[in-house]
Amino acid sequence: MKYLLLFALLFLVLWIVRKNRERTSAPPPPAARPPERMVTCAYCGVNLPLSESVHSGNRHYCCVEHQHSGETRER
Ligand SMILES: [Zn+2]
Repeated sequence: MKYLLLFALLFLVLWIVRKNRERTSAPPPPAARPPERMVTCAYCGVNLPLSESVHSGNRHYCCVEHQHSGETRER
C-alpha cells in the first residue's frame, strides 16, 4: 500500500513536470501583423494593400502600367 502511494505521487510529479515543459517549449504564436489599409486601383478596381500600391496624388494604382494608363485616360 505504501508503494502504491509512492507510485501515485511519482506519477503526479512526472505529469506536472511534463505539463510545465509543454507550456514552456511551445513556440510563441506568430506575431499578428497589424491590419493594413486596403486601397482600390483607380484604373482596374482591384483591391490591394496600401504598401503594395502605386501612389499618384490621392489616387492609388495596382501597378505602374495602370498608373500611366489612368493618368493618360484622365487627360
Ligand atoms: Zn490596376
